[in-house]
Amino acid sequence: MSTDFDDNDRGGRGGRGGPGDKDGRKGGAGGPGARKRGFSRRKVCRFCADQTLAIDYKDPQLLKYFITDRGKIIPRRISGNCAKHQRKVALAVRRSRMIALMPYTVMGD
Ligand SMILES: [Zn+2]
Repeated sequence: MSTDFDDNDRGGRGGRGGPGDKDGRKGGAGGPGARKRGFSRRKVCRFCADQTLAIDYKDPQLLKYFITDRGKIIPRRISGNCAKHQRKVALAVRRSRMIALMPYTVMGD
Protein backbone atom coordinates (compact mmCIF):
# COMPACT_ATOMS: atom_id res chain seq x y z
CA MET A 1 0.00 0.00 0.00
CA SER A 2 2.16 2.77 1.14
CA THR A 3 5.30 0.75 0.61
CA ASP A 4 5.93 2.43 -2.68
CA PHE A 5 5.56 5.82 -1.10
CA ASP A 6 8.02 5.01 1.61
CA ASP A 7 10.52 3.75 -0.86
CA ASN A 8 10.24 6.92 -2.88
CA ASP A 9 10.72 9.08 0.13
CA ARG A 10 13.80 7.21 1.16
CA GLY A 11 15.30 7.51 -2.26
CA GLY A 12 14.81 11.25 -2.28
CA ARG A 13 16.38 11.68 1.10
CA GLY A 14 19.33 9.54 0.19
CA GLY A 15 20.08 11.70 -2.82
CA ARG A 16 19.96 14.78 -0.67
CA GLY A 17 22.17 13.27 1.94
CA GLY A 18 24.96 12.61 -0.52
CA PRO A 19 26.01 16.18 -1.25
CA GLY A 20 25.41 17.13 2.34
CA ASP A 21 27.90 14.56 3.45
CA LYS A 22 30.51 15.89 1.09
CA ASP A 23 29.99 19.35 2.45
CA GLY A 24 30.44 18.09 5.96
CA ARG A 25 33.71 16.50 4.99
CA LYS A 26 34.96 19.78 3.61
CA GLY A 27 34.25 21.45 6.91
CA GLY A 28 36.03 18.66 8.70
CA ALA A 29 39.11 19.12 6.56
CA GLY A 30 39.40 22.65 7.88
CA GLY A 31 39.41 21.31 11.42
CA PRO A 32 42.77 19.52 11.49
CA GLY A 33 44.44 22.53 9.93
CA ALA A 34 43.04 24.78 12.64
CA ARG A 35 44.14 22.64 15.55
CA LYS A 36 47.84 23.12 15.35
CA ARG A 37 49.61 21.28 18.09
CA GLY A 38 52.38 22.93 19.98
CA PHE A 39 53.15 26.61 20.17
CA SER A 40 53.40 28.53 16.95
CA ARG A 41 55.72 31.11 18.46
CA ARG A 42 58.38 28.58 19.23
CA LYS A 43 61.42 30.76 19.30
CA VAL A 44 64.83 29.56 20.28
CA CYS A 45 66.12 30.12 23.76
CA ARG A 46 67.43 33.65 24.03
CA PHE A 47 70.53 32.53 25.90
CA CYS A 48 71.35 30.03 23.18
CA ALA A 49 70.71 32.64 20.54
CA ASP A 50 72.95 35.18 22.21
CA GLN A 51 76.08 33.62 23.61
CA THR A 52 77.15 36.89 25.14
CA LEU A 53 74.07 36.95 27.30
CA ALA A 54 75.02 35.60 30.68
CA ILE A 55 72.63 34.47 33.36
CA ASP A 56 73.68 36.33 36.43
CA TYR A 57 71.88 36.14 39.73
CA LYS A 58 73.13 39.63 40.48
CA ASP A 59 71.22 40.94 37.50
CA PRO A 60 67.57 41.37 38.43
CA GLN A 61 66.94 43.38 35.27
CA LEU A 62 67.52 40.25 33.26
CA LEU A 63 65.91 37.81 35.64
CA LYS A 64 62.70 39.77 35.89
CA TYR A 65 61.91 38.71 32.34
CA PHE A 66 61.59 35.18 33.59
CA ILE A 67 59.35 35.74 36.55
CA THR A 68 55.75 36.78 36.72
CA ASP A 69 54.44 39.93 38.33
CA ARG A 70 53.97 37.89 41.44
CA GLY A 71 57.57 36.80 41.49
CA LYS A 72 57.04 33.27 40.24
CA ILE A 73 59.35 31.70 37.71
CA ILE A 74 57.81 31.52 34.26
CA PRO A 75 57.63 27.97 32.88
CA ARG A 76 59.96 26.97 30.11
CA ARG A 77 57.32 26.51 27.45
CA ILE A 78 56.22 30.10 28.00
CA SER A 79 59.61 31.73 28.31
CA GLY A 80 60.98 29.73 25.38
CA ASN A 81 64.16 28.84 27.20
CA CYS A 82 65.83 25.54 26.61
CA ALA A 83 66.03 23.14 29.52
CA LYS A 84 69.65 23.94 30.20
CA HIS A 85 69.16 27.65 30.45
CA GLN A 86 65.82 27.42 32.18
CA ARG A 87 67.60 25.58 34.95
CA LYS A 88 70.20 28.29 35.12
CA VAL A 89 67.57 30.97 35.18
CA ALA A 90 65.68 29.21 37.94
CA LEU A 91 68.87 28.83 39.92
CA ALA A 92 69.77 32.45 39.39
CA VAL A 93 66.35 33.57 40.50
CA ARG A 94 66.62 31.49 43.63
CA ARG A 95 70.05 32.89 44.40
CA SER A 96 68.83 36.34 43.71
CA ARG A 97 66.03 35.81 46.18
CA MET A 98 68.51 34.71 48.79
CA ILE A 99 70.37 37.95 48.61
CA ALA A 100 67.08 39.81 48.50
CA LEU A 101 67.40 41.14 45.00
CA MET A 102 64.23 39.39 43.94
CA PRO A 103 61.02 38.85 45.82
CA TYR A 104 59.79 35.44 46.86
CA THR A 105 56.30 36.69 46.36
CA VAL A 106 55.00 40.12 45.64
CA MET A 107 53.20 41.65 48.56
CA GLY A 108 49.86 43.36 48.37
CA ASP A 109 47.67 40.42 47.58
ZN1 LIG B 1 69.43 27.82 25.85
